[in-house]
Amino acid sequence: RVRTDFVANISHELRTPIGAVSLMAENLMAATEDTDVARMASVIFTEVTRLNDTVGDLLELARIEFDGLDNTQEVDLVKVVEEATGRLRSAALAKSVMISIENYPQVMIVADRAQLVSAVGNLLDNAIKFSPNGSIVKISIEVLEDQVNVVVADNGPGISEEHLSRVFERFYRVDDARSRSTGGTGLGLAIVRHIARLHGGEVSVESTLGEGSRFTLSLPMRRLPVVGESEH
Ligand code: ADP
Repeated sequence: RVRTDFVANISHELRTPIGAVSLMAENLMAATEDTDVARMASVIFTEVTRLNDTVGDLLELARIEFDGLDNTQEVDLVKVVEEATGRLRSAALAKSVMISIENYPQVMIVADRAQLVSAVGNLLDNAIKFSPNGSIVKISIEVLEDQVNVVVADNGPGISEEHLSRVFERFYRVDDARSRSTGGTGLGLAIVRHIARLHGGEVSVESTLGEGSRFTLSLPMRRLPVVGESEH
């Protein structure tokens, strides 16, 4: 059923913008006023951007599913956080959101570096997108005995109890209109969950409506296998 729903959702998510582009292009061919041309071109641009984002996220999900954990190495988690933060600097700047790295312990884990950057980046992207202008997004690393957490907290609108357990599903959005207007594909958290589980970890969320959300990516601390270890 999940697969059937997924295929139905993909069809919907792709066909809607394709339909809009097709209609606008047809109208454009008959348009004579410059203002109409500009308006229609702008709709086409928005819809094509949405298509591009959705296809990009679908390809990323497919790649993660196909590759699995093929490319693991010792990864410095601080560098992962810095790289993800760097990628979202201009998005944060555009909303005057400050990304504050609160807790910075040096920790090495065995992981797929690119996947972790993507997971942390997706959490940060949401935190920025859903935060009010001028607020602070906090990110911290917590080292526990056999696990390490990357926590991303915002002062956005929060998520109500009934939606909390579902936000990690593919294409699930709490507020469809808002998510679309912020350029959301509904796939970001599904990608985060997939990456977390591939690493033997999990992603969870705590949230209070009107106060904000706190997403925790938990990863187990694993040693690299010592060469020859299995022979003894
Ligand atoms: P989207 O591309 O829509 O952001 P995600 O899978 O990343 O898709 O998130 C799914 C939904 O979860 C979002 O549409 C939004 O309703 C909710 N959500 C995710 N992150 C946050 C957040 N930091 N604050 C409030 N709501 C959030």
